[in-house]
Amino acid sequence: MIYRSPAADVEIPDVTLTEHLFAGARARGAKPALVDATSGEVLTYAELADGVAAVAAALTELGVGPGGVVALVSHNQPRFALALHGAIAAGAAVTPAGALLTAGELTGQLVASRATVVVASEAAAAKVAEAADAAGLEPSLRFVLGEAPGFRPFAELVARGAAAAGAGVPRPDVDPRAAVSMLPYSSGTTGAAKGVMLTHRNQVANVEQNAVGWPLGEDDVLPATLPFTHCYAFTLVLNAGLRAGATIVTLAPYTFDGFLRMAADHRITRAFFAPPMVLAIATAPPGAVERHDLSALRVGICGAAPLDLDVVRRAEARLGCSIRQGFGLTEAGPGTHQTPDAEFATTPAGSVGRLLANTQARVVDPETLQDVPAGERGELWVRGPQIMAGYLGDPAATAAVLLDDGWLRTGDLVRVDESGCFWVVDRLKEMIKYKGYQVAPAELEALLLTHPQVRDAAVVGVPDPEGGEAPKAFVVPEDAAAAPTADAVAAWVRERVAPYKKIRAVEFTDEIPRSPSGKILRRLLR
Ligand code: AMP
Repeated sequence: MIYRSPAADVEIPDVTLTEHLFAGARARGAKPALVDATSGEVLTYAELADGVAAVAAALTELGVGPGGVVALVSHNQPRFALALHGAIAAGAAVTPAGALLTAGELTGQLVASRATVVVASEAAAAKVAEAADAAGLEPSLRFVLGEAPGFRPFAELVARGAAAAGAGVPRPDVDPRAAVSMLPYSSGTTGAAKGVMLTHRNQVANVEQNAVGWPLGEDDVLPATLPFTHCYAFTLVLNAGLRAGATIVTLAPYTFDGFLRMAADHRITRAFFAPPMVLAIATAPPGAVERHDLSALRVGICGAAPLDLDVVRRAEARLGCSIRQGFGLTEAGPGTHQTPDAEFATTPAGSVGRLLANTQARVVDPETLQDVPAGERGELWVRGPQIMAGYLGDPAATAAVLLDDGWLRTGDLVRVDESGCFWVVDRLKEMIKYKGYQVAPAELEALLLTHPQVRDAAVVGVPDPEGGEAPKAFVVPEDAAAAPTADAVAAWVRERVAPYKKIRAVEFTDEIPRSPSGKILRRLLR
C-alpha cells in the first residue's frame, strides 16, 4: 500500500538553489539575514546577496565551479552562509564537516569527497590545516573565516570577487535536477559515512515541502543552535529561513543558558530542537527557563532522534508553546514528515507527523520486502523529489537503499494509523544517535581493530540518559591474560574521534557473534 501526503502537491520550481533562496534577497536590503548572538556580527540580506555573488565570482575565477567540491568546516556563524551559498552559487557542491571532527576524520572526508577547496573557521584552522596537508590540498585553495597561518583570509576572496560580481550572481551551467549542491556525510543503514548527493532540486523541494506545514515569514526569528553542517539545520533553518526572509541568530558554542538568553534577547519566534535540548528544558532547575521572556516563541520543532513524550509535555509547559515533531534523514534532504502547525491539535502525541507534500511512503517487511498490513510495524520506505541522487562514488551502497522505482529504504521501523500519522518505533539500521549526532558502529569497529591489543570488536547503541543512545564496544582481546583495561580502550578511542563518538562502555568477550556471511549480529549483543 502506498501512503500519500494529505497535503496537495506543491510546485517545485526548476531553478538552482541560489536562484530559489536569493531571488528576493537584495530587495530586503538592510534587514538582518544572520546575526551572531555572541559577537553581534550582522549580515544583512543585501550584504549576503552581494557576498554570495562575490564569493561565486572569485571561486569561478579560481576555476572552482560545476563538478567541483568545496569543504566547509565551521561552527555556526553568519559567514558560514556566505561560504556555503557562495560556493553553491558558483556551481560547486559543498561538503559540510562538523567542527568537532578530529584531523584524521576530516582528512577522510576531504579525500572521500574529492574536495579541492577548503573553508575553515578560525577555531578549526589548526586541525583543518593538518587534514588539508594529509589530503594534499593546494595551499592556495585553503581559506579561513578570520585569520590563521597557512590559510588565505576568506575576506580576501570576497573582496576579490566583489568587483567581478557586478549586479548579480551569474548562473552557473548546471542542471538543477542533476547537479549536486550539497554533499553531507551519513552512514545510512550500514557501514561508514558516505557522501550523500543532494541536488539543487532536492534542496529546493525540501524548502518548499517544509514550508507547507511550517510556513516562515519575514517576521520570523530563528535560532541556529543546531549545527549548520547537519542537513536538519542547513535545510530547515538556514535555507528555509533565507528563502522566507527571516532573521537567523547563530549561537556557538551552544550552552543551554546561552540559548535561553538568545531566545529572549532576539525574540525568537520558532525554535528548532534536537531531543537533548528539549530534555534540558524539561529538567532545568526551577526558574531557569521561566526567568527568560520567551513570549515571542510560538512553536518548537523537534527532530533528529526519538523524543520522550513525558519530556515533551514538561518542556512545553515551561516554554509556554507546543513542540511539534518532524522526521527525516540526510538521504531525504532531510524532511519526509512533519506535524503541520494547523494539524497540531489533531496529531496524536508521540507521532512524528504526516507525510510532507509530494512525498509517498510504504511500510515494508524488511525480510520479505512486502507491504505489511495497515497498522502493523515495518520498515519505512519513502519517495519524493527530496530523495538524494545517491552516495558519491558508491554504487553498491546506493543500490542497497535506493531502489530503481525511486523508493528509499530508511532503515527505520515505523507504524501508521488510520489518519496517516507515523510513529517511529525502532531503528533497524546500525546507526547510533548520540544527542542527535550520527555515530557509525562500523567506523568505531574499524578503528578498534587497529588497536594492537584488540583481536575483534563490535559496537552497538545502548540507552544513555543524556545522549538518548550511546556507543558500547564489545572487545575480544588479542591476549586475554594481558588485556588492556576497559578505561584504557575507551581512552584510546577518545583520542581519535569526535567527542560525540566516544565509546561510553566497554565489555570484554571471547567472541563476536557473526552470521554465516560474516555480519556482526548486533541484536544479540544488544
Ligand atoms: P540523520 O541522517 O543524521 O538526520 O539521521 C536520520 C535518522 O535519525 C533517521 O533515520 C532516524 O533513525 C532518526 N530520526 C530522525 N528524526 C527522528 C524522530 N523524530 N524520531 C525518531 N528518530 C528520528
